[in-house]
Amino acid sequence: MVIEAVETAIVAPFRDTMPQSSEYWEACARETSRKTARTLQHIYLCDPCARRLTLEALNGRPPIYHGETISGYCGLCNAKTEVTLRVWFACGICWNVILAYQKTFVASASVLQYWAANMTPRFGAFLCEEKEEVRLEPYARAGKTKKQAAAMLDTLDFLVKGADTALFHIELKTGPGSIDGMSEFQLDINDSNDIIGAIKYTGLPAYIFHAQVIHQYAPPTRYSLATGLWFTDIWTLLAARRSKKPRRGEDKDAGYYRPSAFQPIEKFAAELESKRYLELASRIGELNLE
Ligand SMILES: [Zn+2]
Ligand SMILES: [Zn+2]
Repeated sequence: MVIEAVETAIVAPFRDTMPQSSEYWEACARETSRKTARTLQHIYLCDPCARRLTLEALNGRPPIYHGETISGYCGLCNAKTEVTLRVWFACGICWNVILAYQKTFVASASVLQYWAANMTPRFGAFLCEEKEEVRLEPYARAGKTKKQAAAMLDTLDFLVKGADTALFHIELKTGPGSIDGMSEFQLDINDSNDIIGAIKYTGLPAYIFHAQVIHQYAPPTRYSLATGLWFTDIWTLLAARRSKKPRRGEDKDAGYYRPSAFQPIEKFAAELESKRYLELASRIGELNLE
């Protein structure tokens, strides 16, 4: 009987709506302080994800409308299940962040799957733990600067441990492109600073994985599919930098790198075998925040 009650609670439909009298009507749901946004954004979500997105990323502000329920792919957890159309007010920039979560979930899962299938059988003593589980967050203007925050970062996306000791971090980047077909790999300076900051703060080296994740369409829904994985380390990446310039149309700087810094994930076994992470650990003093 208890189990039935729990199941009922999990599948209870989420149909809360924000009333027109709310002070956040015609305001971006993801922004903590009121910012006018009259754009209506649409997404198909399962009930648990609609509830989770509302609570964790959208300041507790529910959709203004729930539409049809169909069998399709959830825009957040990527599961094929019963999904319902949800409508929120949100600006384009914030909505792109929301839409990117599905790809990020799939990318993280692809790293853990790769590890379980290819690393664990050969290197059973090496554990790959997800540290920064994909976190859903609202947008609030930051107090500390990104550079100050980077200097005290203690985790990246994954931590690989040997018998008892932590060996290295893995930071995961996700994009639609294959490294083989890329003319340039772009990484925000904020992101490379986070990696450098965490390395210096923890005394552990870091690898950067690039997951290629593409969209597949099952109208009116779509799902994300991981199709490739590559790796490099921050030292090799920095040595492959061609330029540093503002991102198009933004005031943030990005680094532009030769894609040849990356190797196919199949070579990561040799990287572990040779214990190259120990050599990288001896080069931490070469790194500086920008
Ligand atoms: Zn879902
Ligand atoms: Zn916004």
